[in-house]
Amino acid sequence: MEKNVKDIQHYINGQFVDASSNEVFDNYNPFTNEKINAVASGDNEEINQAVSAARKAFQGKWGNLKLKDRLAYIYKIADLIDEYIDEIAPLESYDTGLPISQTKKMVARAAHNFRFYAEMVSSRLVGDAYQVDDEFLNYTIHKPVGIAGLITPWNAPFMLETWKIAPALATGNTVVLKPAEWSPLTANRLAEIIDKAGLPDGVFNVVHGYGEKVGASLVAHPDVELISFTGETTTGSEIMKNGADSLKQFSMELGGKSPIIVFDDADVDRALDACTWGIFSFNGERCTANSRLYIHENIADSFIERLKERVQNIVVGDPMKEDTQVGPLIHTDHYNNVKSYIDKAKEEGCDVYSGNVPEEMNRGNLIAPTILLNANNKMSIVQEEIFGPVIAAMTFKDEEEVIELANDIRYGLAGYVWTKDMQRGHRVAQKVDSGMLWINAQNVRDLRTPFGGSKHSGIGREGGHYAFEFYTEVQIIHVALGDHHIPQLGK
Ligand code: NDP
Repeated sequence: MEKNVKDIQHYINGQFVDASSNEVFDNYNPFTNEKINAVASGDNEEINQAVSAARKAFQGKWGNLKLKDRLAYIYKIADLIDEYIDEIAPLESYDTGLPISQTKKMVARAAHNFRFYAEMVSSRLVGDAYQVDDEFLNYTIHKPVGIAGLITPWNAPFMLETWKIAPALATGNTVVLKPAEWSPLTANRLAEIIDKAGLPDGVFNVVHGYGEKVGASLVAHPDVELISFTGETTTGSEIMKNGADSLKQFSMELGGKSPIIVFDDADVDRALDACTWGIFSFNGERCTANSRLYIHENIADSFIERLKERVQNIVVGDPMKEDTQVGPLIHTDHYNNVKSYIDKAKEEGCDVYSGNVPEEMNRGNLIAPTILLNANNKMSIVQEEIFGPVIAAMTFKDEEEVIELANDIRYGLAGYVWTKDMQRGHRVAQKVDSGMLWINAQNVRDLRTPFGGSKHSGIGREGGHYAFEFYTEVQIIHVALGDHHIPQLGK
């Protein structure tokens, strides 16, 4: 794999190009911490070029395509992703440390995203008509907004990028993507695929580089109409400030610290499976991870014992191996950050229980799956997003108490409730402050449903037809059918 990964350029106006400054940054493999390749590092210059290419495409060929021709391109992208799955998934694992068994599913999901939005646009992007007696007919149409600036994180890069690119393009916008600097490989592979699909020049552009430089320049650009951002809450807030002068529209998918609540009547075997998967899949670098466990005191001891057993048995190691369940964290900085939270947990009074990292793998950013026992809501390790394979475990006595505990946090992305009492399940679900909640389920998401968070976890919803509210402008047309009264001033 090492020998195959070439250096990476920007993709602007249908061409792969170096940075005009010729600057590059190094990209590292999280399992060995060895350099993979060099990546072009952009600045204002590349953003200006990409935005002007995107504008030209929007006003020109792309903007004038018939719907069926535009959607044919979207289907073509999906087909090409499927064709190259066996190449993209290893690239993603190599770059991010995500286990290969999981990236294969993510890449398949990415192809599905494109197909899904092609179908949604043809079947659901419809306007309303408002008849007013025999005097007026008012109707709405949806128009693409213009240039979509998409800024994405490193935790599931290919899949998350396609969540934005698919609806943005299918609804007729043009795109400038700024991928995370720690995971540039598959964004570039996607540019190659889109190039191969033959989209007109300038419809899709990728500018690599540092968030504070390239990302900030994209956000501040006066000709970019909307910014869809996924990343940390503090970055989201910074972006909104920087985009205020140019009055951008924002969609914000931000951090999370989601609760899993397990009542004593739950199907404990399934709750345990879901809890373990929900925190340790994607190496724990998952925005919707159930990183706060609230377990009913009647079943707490046995549940925790079984969770400890799982933690001991989880296979930690090389992300390129099929049987690996937890791979290395994305970068040494993030590794150190997660480690520092585990140290902090000890200082704050938790008992820390961890699985194992094979000795010979200590070059990489591997952190063993970890349970923080005896945690409580006052601790920073419960209030802050750790974004690694670390779960804080707490107990509760009754429904009222656990709802209060679940909501005592600034985040509100996801939540999970396990109980066989369905009345209680719905009651608790509806009282938890979160954009999404699963009852007796792990995080399975139908693409038609809204995705997003409340409180400091996000603004707006993407997913399904909800994405249309963001990626399209609704225009109302008022048509007079008869001679309605018009005041005659000055007559
Ligand atoms: P960051 O906020 O650090 O970065 C996200 C993106 O923003 C990167 O491309 C980054 O560039 C860029 N960026 C950084 N600073 C700026 C700036 N000033 N202006 C414009 N762009 C900027 O997030 P992470 O990459 O660390 O991702 C992890 C976070 O993402 C977690 O908090 C997680 O919860 C959240 N997330 C939320 C999801 C949701 O749907 N709610 C889904 C997945 C993740 P660079 O890489 O160069 O720093």
